[in-house]
Amino acid sequence: MLRVDIRDLQRGPVRTEGRLPPDDPAFEGLDLGLAEPVEVTGQLQATGDGEYLWRGHVHGVVRGECRRCLTDVLDDLDIDVDAAVFSTDPDAADDPDFYPLSGRATSVDVTEVVREELALAAHADLMLCRDDCAGLCPTCGADLNAGPCGCGRAPAEPV
Ligand SMILES: [Zn+2]
Ligand SMILES: [Zn+2]
Repeated sequence: MLRVDIRDLQRGPVRTEGRLPPDDPAFEGLDLGLAEPVEVTGQLQATGDGEYLWRGHVHGVVRGECRRCLTDVLDDLDIDVDAAVFSTDPDAADDPDFYPLSGRATSVDVTEVVREELALAAHADLMLCRDDCAGLCPTCGADLNAGPCGCGRAPAEPV
C-alpha cells in the first residue's frame, strides 16, 4: 500500500510497498516511457506537528533512445528517497521542500513522491546504449558500432 491511513501512522511507522503499472494515473502526462511496473518500498512515519516523513526506494525501467546511435535502450532508474516530508502546515504549501497535505486529510499517499522523483530522474538521465557507444557517422548516418562506415569522413573518436 502506498496510501497510509493517518490513524495507523499515529500508532507508529508503517511500511509502504507497492507496484504501479506503467499506465497508472499517477504517471499521466509525464511521458516517461516506462517499460515495466514501478516498484516502491519504504517506510512512512509521523514526525509530529502534522508532518509525515517518507523514506523509500523507487525502481523503474524506462525505454528511451541512445543519444549517440539512436537505438532503443532500456534504462534502470534506482532512486533512493532520503526524506520526503508531507506537511499539513499551510505555510508549507508554497515550499517546494514539502508535499502539502490538507489539515483534513485522513491518509498520506506517497505516490505523489514517486511521480515527482521519477520525472526528475528520467529527464536528468542522458541515455547511452553503452558507455563507449561510437554513435552514428555525421556524414552518412551509418552506425559506427558496426565498424567504419566507408564514407571516409567518420571521426576517429566518438563525439
Ligand atoms: Zn548507442
Ligand atoms: Zn560515414
